[in-house]
Amino acid sequence: MRISQMLFVTLREDPAEAEIPSHKLLLRAGYIRRIGSGIYAYLPLMWRVLKKVSQIVREEMDATGAQECLLPQLQPADLWRESGRWDTYTQTEGIMFALTDRRDTELGLGPTHEEVITTIAKDMIRSYRQLPIHLYQIQTKFRDEIRPRFGLMRGREFIMKDGYSFHSSEESLKKTYQDMDQAYRNMLRRSGLQFRAVDADSGAIGGSGSQEFMVLAEAGEDEVLYTEDGQYAANLEKAVSIPADTETSPFATFEKRETPGTDTIEKLCKFLKCSPTQVVKNVLYQAVYDSGITVLVLVSIRGDQDVNQVKLLNELTKLAGNYQAKTILFLTVPDAEAQQKWAAKSLPLGYMAPDVADDYIADSKEVNSKFLRLVDRTAVDLTNFVTGSNESGYHVVGANWDKEFPLPSLAVDVRKAKKGDRAVHNPEQTLQTARGIEVGHIFQLGTKYSQTMGATYTNEQGEEMPLVMGCYGVGVSRLAQSAVEQSYDKDGIIWPVAIAPYHVIISIPNISDAQQVEVAEKLYAELNQSGIETLLDDRDERAGVKFKDADLIGIPYRIVPGRSLKSGKVEVVERATHKSQEILIEQVNSTLKQWIEAAIK
Ligand code: ATP
Ligand code: MG
Repeated sequence: MRISQMLFVTLREDPAEAEIPSHKLLLRAGYIRRIGSGIYAYLPLMWRVLKKVSQIVREEMDATGAQECLLPQLQPADLWRESGRWDTYTQTEGIMFALTDRRDTELGLGPTHEEVITTIAKDMIRSYRQLPIHLYQIQTKFRDEIRPRFGLMRGREFIMKDGYSFHSSEESLKKTYQDMDQAYRNMLRRSGLQFRAVDADSGAIGGSGSQEFMVLAEAGEDEVLYTEDGQYAANLEKAVSIPADTETSPFATFEKRETPGTDTIEKLCKFLKCSPTQVVKNVLYQAVYDSGITVLVLVSIRGDQDVNQVKLLNELTKLAGNYQAKTILFLTVPDAEAQQKWAAKSLPLGYMAPDVADDYIADSKEVNSKFLRLVDRTAVDLTNFVTGSNESGYHVVGANWDKEFPLPSLAVDVRKAKKGDRAVHNPEQTLQTARGIEVGHIFQLGTKYSQTMGATYTNEQGEEMPLVMGCYGVGVSRLAQSAVEQSYDKDGIIWPVAIAPYHVIISIPNISDAQQVEVAEKLYAELNQSGIETLLDDRDERAGVKFKDADLIGIPYRIVPGRSLKSGKVEVVERATHKSQEILIEQVNSTLKQWIEAAIK
């Protein structure tokens, strides 16, 4: 392609709308253009990158025996009602764009395709003989994200590869899951990314596992905890660890103490000269179940620990049946306004004890009349501990479970693992932390969708069984941007060769120099012909401008037919290192071919 014929507009200044380097660079280099909040046009250079990423993804998927298809983006609401997700997706969580057609039929724009694929499986899979089967597609997804940001990282319209597999057994699912794990590693390695596969939260579905693939970068929205020995890595949401040891309590007898102005653990420990590991803190949450019932949840946890809200949500979802519900709509720390809706009198916030009385909850049909009391495992074994007294300005010290306070019957792990904690697999290893961008997620779904939607098959014994399912996603557009986030310098983007829009750019220093133009044209034709994707910067611009642009758009190799022409050579500059060398014109093609092949391997 000749740059003179392209829609080629680069910006010298960082656009105000962009916060992270990759977003700034993609805008400045003319790869993407913002059309609306979370809505971007993929301009020709970007589209080439996206096609390359898609092709790598496609090749790795095909190699596992999965088959490509294309599913509709317009999805009937009824399908989502069948799975029970319509209300949560369109209203509660609100991530799904919903619309009504001229016949008054409700439809949604696909944020994901479990419903569509399960309905196909329900119709078409009859027998175990048809299993396993794995279909995937590469397609635009729509999600009405609350906070679209960072360009393609979190768009409201983005490209995803999503695959769904169907099995007659858990073992068969596990096999495909393993194949996907390998396929994902291959995709990311081939795309030139540094990544980590981490244990991920499978939500309330439980299931036997899920893994996320994280591209390591400061701008990542996720936190990853891992050990140096490479044996453990998990999303913070899911991570487990051994907490610091408890220090022995200095309080041997139970008594109430005046502790003015100590509504935080830090202030309290300073005042009482004790360790936060000797404190039981009581944290209040408010869960709204889909039955419409609000439940106030009191979590007692050791003072130096924090609650992991994802783990808590999973625990509370397991209890949905107790509240005539299937799932939880919201889980929040109730602010003053929320408390007003249900509190019969003002709560002793900052001074609550594990036994705070149920009569703080006003009588109401929508609110469960008792606190749901949970104790985190870190607080179970504490003795002679400090905790609230249910009276502002006072705490108790020297307290014990089943003496002064009943131990909540539900002991759970809802604590947040953190940097520095000891690892479960080997306590000599401590957890380290890194930031990551989730580019892929593989998931053993089990029978959640097949059961609710009635997708069954007949097994060898002639029994009707629900299909066992897995699902596997890759954010193609997010992956492409994360490559930039991992690879740039002060001059611009440094694309990994495998996904660069072009391999080579020939920058003609001076287009009124006939010899320069002639050599450039010759190489341009020759390289393209031999499969080396080449751009020709034939604009009537100063050499400096062209070199800057070539660096900014990040093409791996730049050829400059300049001064060295008199010795039959051109200058070839490697973008990543700025290393330059002079190569005989007739050897340019074979040399570049070698370099590119070596880089793409
Ligand atoms: P996140 O936690 O980042 O919102 P998710 O867990 O909801 O993502 P999945 O449903 O697992 O996402 O989707 C599969 C993949 O699609 C993700 O791993 C991610 O790479 C990509 N993806 C999800 N949401 C977006 C988005 N809004 N913009 C771009 N890519 C996205
Ligand atoms: Mg995910």
